[in-house]
Amino acid sequence: MNLPTINELSKEIANLISAGEVVERPSSVVKELVENAIDANASIIKVELINSGIKKINVLDNGFGMTKDQIPVAIKPHATSKIKTSKDLFNIATLGFRGEALPSIQSVSKMRISSCTDGVNGYFYQYKSSDLVDEGVTSMPIGTKVEVENLFFNTPARLKHLSTESVELSHITTLINRIALANPTIQFILINNNKLIYQTDGSGDIISLMGQTYGLDVAKSLIKFENKNDLYHIKGYTTTNNVYRSNKNYINIIINNRIIRNLNILFAVTDAYKSIIPVGKYPITILEIECDPSLIDVNVHPTKLEIRFTDELILREMITSTIGKALYHTELVYEAKEKDIKKEIPVIDENPYVTVIKEDEPEIIKEESIETLWDEFDEGNVFPDLEDAEDNFDDDEEYDDDENDEDDDNAFELEIETKVEVQKVEFQESIFDTLTYIGQYHKTYLLFDGGAELYLIDQHAAMERCMYEKIRKSFEKESNQSYELLVPIKLEFSVSEIPLINEKEHELNKLGIKFEPFGGTTIIVREIPLWIPKNLEIEFINDIINHLINNQNVSKSVMYESLAKKLSCKKSIKANTSILDSEVNELLNNLKQCQMPYTCPHGRPTLVKISTYEIEKIFKRVI
Ligand code: ZN
Ligand code: ZN
Repeated sequence: MNLPTINELSKEIANLISAGEVVERPSSVVKELVENAIDANASIIKVELINSGIKKINVLDNGFGMTKDQIPVAIKPHATSKIKTSKDLFNIATLGFRGEALPSIQSVSKMRISSCTDGVNGYFYQYKSSDLVDEGVTSMPIGTKVEVENLFFNTPARLKHLSTESVELSHITTLINRIALANPTIQFILINNNKLIYQTDGSGDIISLMGQTYGLDVAKSLIKFENKNDLYHIKGYTTTNNVYRSNKNYINIIINNRIIRNLNILFAVTDAYKSIIPVGKYPITILEIECDPSLIDVNVHPTKLEIRFTDELILREMITSTIGKALYHTELVYEAKEKDIKKEIPVIDENPYVTVIKEDEPEIIKEESIETLWDEFDEGNVFPDLEDAEDNFDDDEEYDDDENDEDDDNAFELEIETKVEVQKVEFQESIFDTLTYIGQYHKTYLLFDGGAELYLIDQHAAMERCMYEKIRKSFEKESNQSYELLVPIKLEFSVSEIPLINEKEHELNKLGIKFEPFGGTTIIVREIPLWIPKNLEIEFINDIINHLINNQNVSKSVMYESLAKKLSCKKSIKANTSILDSEVNELLNNLKQCQMPYTCPHGRPTLVKISTYEIEKIFKRVI
């Protein structure tokens, strides 16, 4: 087998990738050393830390190793085995750069590199802030061991800047988690102060890897997805709406075996979950994209790596619809377990069901505040600057708004309608068809006998889902069926709003709203769409117009999405309201026909089941 040779970069390229501050914290050291180990074809990589790496970092691998002569070349600035010409920069299969890292690390620590290519002739070099202080033969198995001690000992300002040990350790753990997910056939071992923190088995099995990384609950709720077109092959696993987290760090994007951050791709994933999981919650996902490296456009800025894809819109759409389909084809009925019912304090992240039954504030207020969150999430950063692959992985703030002017121009063109085409799935019929209505409980929940399970439907959430899908559908139509009002509606606006409304006339017409100015601050509405419920005409029209004129900068699909949520909530039967049997029937029928009957548009469950077994456990019939 050929050993990869390490080349020195030309000055030109060295400047191009001038990495600036490569070593920020222990995790940057770990990242570089682990990636070097991966490049050396290691199948086992062990990271040992003392005091979260602040005192010591050891990275051991069983890769190719280096000869006595190769080690000093690796330490030289701008040596890399990855990039030989500037053309490679734009054609790299791996999205990381080497060459800066080792010398940078060397300059701020006491570093010792030992390596061996044949299991016999091992050699080591020891440096103290770039000065060679010792070298010699050493006996070791094939592979490389890099020891980095007293990081930043000669740059006390840097040292002072570090966070607490537990924060530094979490940086490193997140990093190793992500690298491990991108390299399922490599075994990773992470140890801190002689305590095992994380370990993978290197078996290549993604589900067990996800279990080792995120826990059993996550592994159990994973669904698989896969799709390809001429350019891209995507595949991976993602959680159902039963398991989610409060930040986006659990969405892992891997391109050609290298983990990257890219907001556009991340949004393609979260778009598939809109109206399925609560706002501000995110799935746990591993998404792998395989493609010819030439389809990836890499722009190197002094401190940033910008990645763009050929036909990025098509790629995004494929990701959203593929994950969407996988979700919509899965039975997403929430299942309540005895431990949940007994729990006093809801664990919001883990158990939506418990949260729901503990809620006692008025619902609308809650949902509207939730809605705002979505809006912020969407509007702020639909097409922000692309993320940097070299960034720290675990800093959620980085996703937050930094308004980017240059992207604003094409933001609307780039807008993707993220509707997911779904065929009806058989099991959906079977669930709703097996339910026998028992009665209403707490004037809020509808109880059904489902044979082996007791089903509860949240009447408001269920109705909201039906209404939401109806409104969404009508928004998607090119022209809406409307009818002429017997008594036209007069609406008052402010002087400044009237021109904005006139500007939107075409769009309002398309929605089925026909109006004319009535002079001054009044408009008169003559026609409205058929779907608007009786007695809510004025309220709905007002809401629609206000939403349209107050969300000028929001992409259309985002605006319609939030409008549909808002309107559907208003229309739906409230909690604490009696319901007729005939209304229950109609509701169940409508719900059955929904594309996604299992959650309300805000991601709360509509339907919860409790198995007979769980109930028998409560009554101590079984243990
Ligand atoms: Zn609601
Ligand atoms: Zn809702």
